Amino acid sequence: MKPLVAIVGRPNVGKSTFFNRMIGERIAIVEDMPGTTRDRIYGDTDWNGREFTLIDTGGSGITAADEEVAELMRRTEKPVILGANKADNAERRMDAVEFYTLGLGEPIVLSSLQGVGTGDLLDRIVEELPPAEEMAEDEEDERPRIAIVGRPNVGKSSLLNAILGFQRAIVSDVPGTTRDAIDTEVTFGERKMVLIDTAGIRRRGRVGPGVEKYSVLRSSRAIERSDVAVLVIDASEGLAAQDTHIAGEIQDGTKGVVVVINKWDLAQEQHRAEREEIFPDPDDEIASAERYRRIIMEGLKFIPYAPVIFASAKTGYHVQSLLETVLSIADMRYLRVPTARLNEVVQSAVRHHNPTVFRNRTLKIYYATQTRVNPPTFVFFVNNPEALHFSYERYLENQLRAAFGFKGTGIRLYFRARTKNDTRGGQER
Ligand code: GDP
Repeated sequence: MKPLVAIVGRPNVGKSTFFNRMIGERIAIVEDMPGTTRDRIYGDTDWNGREFTLIDTGGSGITAADEEVAELMRRTEKPVILGANKADNAERRMDAVEFYTLGLGEPIVLSSLQGVGTGDLLDRIVEELPPAEEMAEDEEDERPRIAIVGRPNVGKSSLLNAILGFQRAIVSDVPGTTRDAIDTEVTFGERKMVLIDTAGIRRRGRVGPGVEKYSVLRSSRAIERSDVAVLVIDASEGLAAQDTHIAGEIQDGTKGVVVVINKWDLAQEQHRAEREEIFPDPDDEIASAERYRRIIMEGLKFIPYAPVIFASAKTGYHVQSLLETVLSIADMRYLRVPTARLNEVVQSAVRHHNPTVFRNRTLKIYYATQTRVNPPTFVFFVNNPEALHFSYERYLENQLRAAFGFKGTGIRLYFRARTKNDTRGGQER
């Protein structure tokens, strides 16, 4: 979980200008606020290595004055930082001292438009954030964390219920680390796992324009907190742009992933209705599944390592194999490759296919080592990381996968210039 930082103030003080300057080209998520004309906009950013999510709250109503907003802020338990924006010139910067009277401490004087003083404000924000360790999920917790994600109506909550109702699963609610996230622990066989944000999945409601966007935000959060994401796709609808987008987030987070093609019962029915009269074929289900798998994975080319499961939340078809797959992916993320074996594989990969000249340089790989698990992370010590072409990075990743597996999980490869006395690794780039 990243800490949340809300930008509040009366309309037109420059909240969005500040937000936009901090978020830049990065993706912001818009949440329609019921009963208001303004949206809440969320975006991730970082400062001095601390990541946090900024919320542009869009204002506190047309009548609010600075004093009223300040009064609201004084009553909150949260740390409050006062920013005096639009201090575009020396005179205005001088005037800003009058905001002391708001009783919120020393105002940070800034101009979001010019980008002056914004660094000071960010410094103060980072000072007030809870310690990074507090925000991290419990490291000791060995239970894999599973996020069930997908577009609305693909069958996430049905699948959740199918899992919870699965006769060999023992279910217990565990409170999440944040107020609004309620997770559920499931014991399957000897193994425990945590299904993330089950409250969010179950929360059904009116489907309005804001709901889909909101569920996108929820699924981003769930993915962030997960070890393995279950990406649910509706077999009767096929792959949609939103599915690809979610898959991209899973990949960016180097998470484990399994693709569930849900409502397979429905797709089979449709398929039979179309084919039956012509030539019924007992092998047809397998053939159509394979065809379907190829079409879906063509659209999800960037996660070729993801297993695909045809399932039905309605009939319970393949729910057990989904749970087994999720657990095996979680285990894959803890795979440790012995350094000697790793370097054999890397050397052999280089022998079979030498790096070509890129940016006038030829990459030389001296040594590789695995620096961590969950996700499996490898550091390659090279003459010059600049000389690495992305296609060669992909080649190396494929070679590691061919040798060691890592079925169903993203892995990370870092490339560092070797300095004379440094071949051990340890830290990442
Ligand atoms: P969510 O928005 O992703 O949580 O989707 P829901 O679980 O609410 O499911 C949306 C609709 O699809 C509901 O009407 C479900 O009954 C139906 N549904 C879900 N899974 C299946 C399935 O495997 N087969 C069939 N035929 N219908 C399903």
